[in-house]
Amino acid sequence: MVEKFDAIVIGAGPSGNAATYTLAKAGLNVLQLERGEYPGAKNVQGGIMYAAELEKIIPDFRDDCPTERHIIEQRVWLLGDDNYIGTNYRSDAFNTDRPNRYTIIRANIDKWFSEKIRAAGGLQICETTVTELIRDGAGKVIGVRTDREGGEIHADVVIMADGVNALLAKRTGFQQEAAPENVALAVKEILFIDPELIQQRFGLKDDEGVVIEIMGKVTKGMVGTAFLYTNKESLTIGIGCLISDFKAGNCPPYKMLEDLKRHPVIKPLIEGAEMKEYAAHMIPEGGYKAVPQLYGDGWMVVGDAAHLNNAAHREGSNLAMASGRMAAETVIELKQSGLAPTAANLAEYKRKMDASFVMKDLKKYRELPGIMHNNKQFFGAYPDVITAAAHNWFTVDSVDKKTKEKEIMASFVKKRSVFGLVGDALKLVRAVR
Ligand code: FAD
Repeated sequence: MVEKFDAIVIGAGPSGNAATYTLAKAGLNVLQLERGEYPGAKNVQGGIMYAAELEKIIPDFRDDCPTERHIIEQRVWLLGDDNYIGTNYRSDAFNTDRPNRYTIIRANIDKWFSEKIRAAGGLQICETTVTELIRDGAGKVIGVRTDREGGEIHADVVIMADGVNALLAKRTGFQQEAAPENVALAVKEILFIDPELIQQRFGLKDDEGVVIEIMGKVTKGMVGTAFLYTNKESLTIGIGCLISDFKAGNCPPYKMLEDLKRHPVIKPLIEGAEMKEYAAHMIPEGGYKAVPQLYGDGWMVVGDAAHLNNAAHREGSNLAMASGRMAAETVIELKQSGLAPTAANLAEYKRKMDASFVMKDLKKYRELPGIMHNNKQFFGAYPDVITAAAHNWFTVDSVDKKTKEKEIMASFVKKRSVFGLVGDALKLVRAVR
């Protein structure tokens, strides 16, 4: 006889873990399937973990969660060829007993989360790939088929948390193939380094941490960003650009990362560090307009598989956890009310999402992906002209300041024309309002 669960969750990343834990904690009979050898084996994250969403799911997570450093300083840098201009925000107020953001090593967090799931009564099976969703004659999802012998399992509801490829939703016809301009490819390295060097180079003590978000010439005019994060005994460095740009460009991702590591501003920060791990992964960056149908008869989709990623703020894992939690809460409410997980009833998941920061933030930036994709000047011309303007302004050479102002204005107009500058300013406003 085919086994039957209240819910099956596919994937053990942040979205799947949030969903499975929430369901198990409420006493539902839940099965989580993960294709990796262990949770986290297949996962890549830069990574910053945002406390607020995890805290809603596991309020006392700080007691034993294997975080790296809590972030006390955020830097945002625009890199030129051999320089940068940027802003830093650092505050001692981030040194609290309830820090807001942490750097993490994803594999450690995923393993920890899985232990919590098992302790809450969830059943988790690894090394099992879901190959297909099973539907009844009316099209309702009633279970999954796996790559294990006799691997057919039934459930009242299936939650797809299988990450950016979303193969199951695509295979079943619930989603279209993502356009290459809606997906970024990111490469990253974890670099081993003496913790004392981290403290010295970044001005830190104990487990304080710094994150640096980077834009500019390092992406060679492609739409993309880079990052450098401080862990306990390592640094995470990475860079990512839209797949459509990599296709059209002539710089492969690994070469871009090597160039970033050699950049005169970055090199001194990572000098002496040894590469421990290299990974490449995709990130869904199409934003609000790329979010597919989130639910149907007997199914829901959460996290990266639903394109829930706020690229402007580099937030992904928190949107993933929030969506996993809200999907699970919807199932729990239906179960408690004795209602079936029909499409009409699962629409409550979308209502919860629309009322939350997840969809509100994605909606706010709905024009951003398209505007960035069609306006490469923000990644080429502007880093050039802005860093050159800063160099001119901060060079004391007996040229009077009025003349410098005129030179700087002229350099902007030469690069973009007055019409172009005004147009770009309007586009930026439209992209973020
Ligand atoms: P995933 O984490 O991708 O998990 C999906 C899981 O499903 C995987 O474990 C996979 O093995 C499993 N799976 C897939 N298919 C199947 C199948 N058929 N059967 C069984 N199991 C399956 N977010 C942040 O919040 N902060 C950051 O700093 C940050 N940095 C990032 C840096 C990089 C380089 C990348 C690539 C992403 C970054 N993100 C960051 C985004 C974040 O990692 C994702 O948003 C988040 O991991 C999404 O979680 P998820 O559970 O939806 O998917």
